[in-house]
Formats: sequence, structure tokens, C-alpha cells
Amino acid sequence: MATAAAAEVQTKAENQNGEQKTRHQEVGHKSLLKSDALYQYILETSVYPREPESMKELREITAKHPWNLMTTSADEGQFLSMLLKLINAKKTIEIGVYTGYSLLATALALPDDGKILAMDINRENYELGLPVIEKAGVAHKIDFREGPALPVLDELLKDKNNHGSFDFVFVDADKDNYLNYHNRLIDLVKLGGVIGYDNTLWNGSVAEPADTPMRKYIRYYRDFVIELNKALAADKRVEICQLPISDGITLCRRVS
Ligand code: SAM
Ligand code: CA
Repeated sequence: MATAAAAEVQTKAENQNGEQKTRHQEVGHKSLLKSDALYQYILETSVYPREPESMKELREITAKHPWNLMTTSADEGQFLSMLLKLINAKKTIEIGVYTGYSLLATALALPDDGKILAMDINRENYELGLPVIEKAGVAHKIDFREGPALPVLDELLKDKNNHGSFDFVFVDADKDNYLNYHNRLIDLVKLGGVIGYDNTLWNGSVAEPADTPMRKYIRYYRDFVIELNKALAADKRVEICQLPISDGITLCRRVS
């Protein structure tokens, strides 16, 4: 994933003076908006001026990492923060941490006694961002578990006290497992609680004809994302809303 991702960031475009300028410089931008200029406008007008210092620091550390295209973008971080506050979230799950940008956004948005169960198969990347999270004074809200998320969810489900106990879940990991996550998370999230599935527009590929040339990893996960989108649309246990922020996020509000 890293090589394709890095290649994507390095896509070049000519500016008006004929100089080479890096397109999609902002990590996380997957070109769903009308223009790069419009995305830059959003970032510079509404996002960066209000971004907490710690999130800026973590974003800058992450930008130097070779897999930086995986990070949550600053505008999506701002959205998550707003959403968590609107629903008064206190107890959450995050699947897919990477260096922790969305995790930090969540930790900052929760009250001081809030809790996040965070999972990732890679601890090293989490530890890259951890000093920033600690400095921000929110590390006590995080319970990080290294390893695949599915067994952790299965373990949680064994205890009935965990059923219907989570206010919010952010799923941003292996797309081929999203439906497996969904079938477990639906019992863990409370009625009226929200699950956010990230990257549900998968670089726009979900709407491209199957024979369109695509990067290997885009093609591989595309079918899983398409299946997920159909399944969520048909799932009467949730109300859904698919938003074109970053690479697309589908919010599912549990209703039964
Ligand atoms: N939310 C993160 C952020 O804001 O930077 C980005 C997450 S990144 C897109 C996806 C992450 O999922 C990677 O760090 C990867 O190690 C993790 N991952 C992949 N498969 C996983 C699995 N089965 N269980 C838990 N984490 C997994
Ligand atoms: Ca993502």
C-alpha cells in the first residue's frame, strides 16, 4: 500500500507559470472535490486556523512518514471532533489507529473521563504519535490493543455488559473486514449510537466501470467497499448517511 500511496501523493501538475507543483499535497485528499484549490480553501479558511496545536504537530510528524496517505485528513479530523461533541460521546472504539490523528481528535473531543478502545496491528506507528497524545494530556482516555481487531470485538461480545454500551465507533482499517466488523459492532454500539465507516468512496473507484485502470490495492478493496455500501444501505438496523468528506465516510446510527 505504501508505494502506491506515496506515488499518489507525488502526482505532479503544471501551474499557470509552467512550474511543477505537487498535487494533492495535503495528505488524505483523495480528489473527490471539484478542484485542489477548493480543498485548499476549506483547509486554509476553516480547518487549519481552528486545528488544535497538538493535532497540527501530529499531522506534521505523520507527513514525514512513508505511509502518510493513510492518515485522517485535517478536515475529517475536524468533522469527527464536531460529531463526537454533538452526540456527547463518552465511550468509543477506534479500529485502525496508524499514527493516531483521528485518535487524538477523538481523545480531545471526549470528556476527561471518556474512554477509547483503540486497536491496530501495528504498535510502532501508534508510538510515533504517542508522545504528542501524552503531551496533549489525553493519553489516559486511550486503551490501545495491538493486534487484529476482530478477536478483540469477539472477546468484548462475550460480556453482555459491553452490549449496547458504546456511543461511537470509527472504523478505518482493513476494508475487506468491514462487514465482519459491522456484524459485531451493531451489538456493541448503543441504540442511537453511531458507527462511522471510513473510505466508503474508495478513491472514487466505487463509481468507476470495472474495466477502468486502477492501482492494484484500489482494485483489490473496491469490491469489498461496494459490497459494504450495498449491505449498509439494506440494513434496517441502522439509519445511514454517506458523506463525501475526504475519501467518504458512512455514518450508521443504530435504530434497532
Ligand atoms: N485512523 C488512522 C489515522 O487517523 O491516521 C488511519 C488508519 S490507517 C488508514 C489503517 C490502519 O489499520 C493501519 O494502521 C493498519 O495497521 C490497521 N489495520 C489493518 N488491518 C487491521 C486489523 N485487522 N486490525 C486492526 N488494525 C488493522
Ligand atoms: Ca481513512
